[in-house]
Amino acid sequence: MRAMVFEGGKPLTCRSLPLPEPGDCEVLIEVRACAVCRTDLHVVDADLKAPKKPVIPGHEIVGKIVKAGAKTQALEMTVGLWVGVPWLGSTCGQCPYCLSARENLCLNPGFTGYTIDGGFAQYTVADARHTFILPPAVHDDRSAQEFSPMLCAGLIGWRSLRFARPALDAAGGKLGIYGFGAAGHIVAQVAIHLGYEVYAFVRPGDEQAQQFARGLGAVYAGSSAEPSPEELDAAIIFAPSGALVPAALKSLAPGGCLVLGGIHMSDIPALPYELLWHERTIQSVANLTVADGHEFMDFLAKHKVTTSTEALPLEQANEALDRLRAGQVSGALVLTPWQPKPC
Ligand SMILES: [Zn+2]
Ligand SMILES: [Zn+2]
Repeated sequence: MRAMVFEGGKPLTCRSLPLPEPGDCEVLIEVRACAVCRTDLHVVDADLKAPKKPVIPGHEIVGKIVKAGAKTQALEMTVGLWVGVPWLGSTCGQCPYCLSARENLCLNPGFTGYTIDGGFAQYTVADARHTFILPPAVHDDRSAQEFSPMLCAGLIGWRSLRFARPALDAAGGKLGIYGFGAAGHIVAQVAIHLGYEVYAFVRPGDEQAQQFARGLGAVYAGSSAEPSPEELDAAIIFAPSGALVPAALKSLAPGGCLVLGGIHMSDIPALPYELLWHERTIQSVANLTVADGHEFMDFLAKHKVTTSTEALPLEQANEALDRLRAGQVSGALVLTPWQPKPC
């Protein structure tokens, strides 16, 4: 199979590798789409310090099962099914977190495209327990491409919203979203389906992002440097800027919840206690549980959520990473390994 491989430095190398063999609890997947995520950049740029070497990056995998291990039948993983593979690729099943259904905090996890080979390849092997059967609407290459960002941006958005919902449900349901990129634009649509009002806060001066947010149904879109026109019952920050924390707290109602949805964030500046006073909370989000994944797939089977994507051949993975690094992306870039091109 063809794969783009991280061998310890930039750029990724195009390699021809033997087809991997699935173990008893694993499935072999023919990859049809794999979106490129900011975390892939953190792997390639060595911000994340402990990758398997060499490793195939990519953790927003959509593809078809071509071979299923002997013990995967209980999970109904059969050949021909469209499935998705997220960042959390395996867990130990034995640590206190795994034993309390909080396997997103597992002490000995495996991460797809980081410590486990991922989806920048024509084929990949995945742990069936961490693989999701996709909604019926995902049935061809076009829908696979559009669905791919759901496997990371969408799932993180879903879990972030889950933490925000008690505060939203207790009050008027006004949700602020700071940073309107891949995760923000998906979670905004999910929140609107659930009956919440979305207030979008984007980079100062980014008119295009404001229009995009209004087009998706946000009741308000404005600069993240301005206070919200209405007091918010909850807010989610996806932008990696710690300075947004006090800014968002200023717009949060008493009892409100501020969710930090990113893996990385710059330092949070010192803030006066009165911004947190009155039972406001700050909650971070790490990975997702298997239950979150199944719930989100069920939700997507019933509700239409759109994504904005651009397809690139697998062999242009380096170009995709460069564009993401330079911010030259509107919507998600998705690699399509089923169309092999010369390296
Ligand atoms: Zn990701
Ligand atoms: Zn564990």
